[in-house]
Amino acid sequence: MKKGRLFVVSGPSGCGKGTILQEILQDPDLYFSVSATTRQMRPGEVDGVNYRFLSNEKFEELIAEDGFLEYAGYCDHYYGTLRQPVEEHLQAGQNVILEIEVVGAKKIREKCPDAIFLFIMPPSLSELERRLRKRGTETEEVVQQRVSQAAREIQCADSYDYVVVNAELEQAVAEVHAILHSETCKNQNKKEIIREVLKK
Ligand code: 5GP
Repeated sequence: MKKGRLFVVSGPSGCGKGTILQEILQDPDLYFSVSATTRQMRPGEVDGVNYRFLSNEKFEELIAEDGFLEYAGYCDHYYGTLRQPVEEHLQAGQNVILEIEVVGAKKIREKCPDAIFLFIMPPSLSELERRLRKRGTETEEVVQQRVSQAAREIQCADSYDYVVVNAELEQAVAEVHAILHSETCKNQNKKEIIREVLKK
């Protein structure tokens, strides 16, 4: 059976990747990997939907059991991709999306060289700061921490296969759609149909 493809999406906090992915995930053929984290739940977030919110102790237990495909520390908290659901969906032929930061993405690149890497970035750091403040879910100190973190992350954009600048939401969504489409049209994903058509 044909395995699904793994898409890895990164981008600084507040760049709009969550909103873009919400649009993209209307496609029932895509499976969004719900990460585990030790950070506090934000208003409106639901355990098991946005993240699996775990204690430090539970997270470290899962690390010890090799339960993560990758994990990383980010702004004083753990974030990690749960291995089992991702592997199951890929095996079942479904395309899987991971939304993870740059350190975790690098680990995935080493383990899964066939994965496709997309970086989403804001049009400027001042626009990012404005969006983070408008979200109103973080203290001023955390906003500043995340803007500095964003600058460091954007330096990694170079190692991604695709870069989407989210200046205008509709355009950014269209670009991500186009990337997913073109990837599924690649020769390597059409071998089965080529064989089928040539069958006598
Ligand atoms: P936030 O706290 O804003 O939801 O996420 C902070 C950062 O953690 C974001 O850059 C997000 O992409 C990243 N992140 C979310 N889930 C994971 C994960 O499973 N692994 C890694 N390495 N990063 C993650």
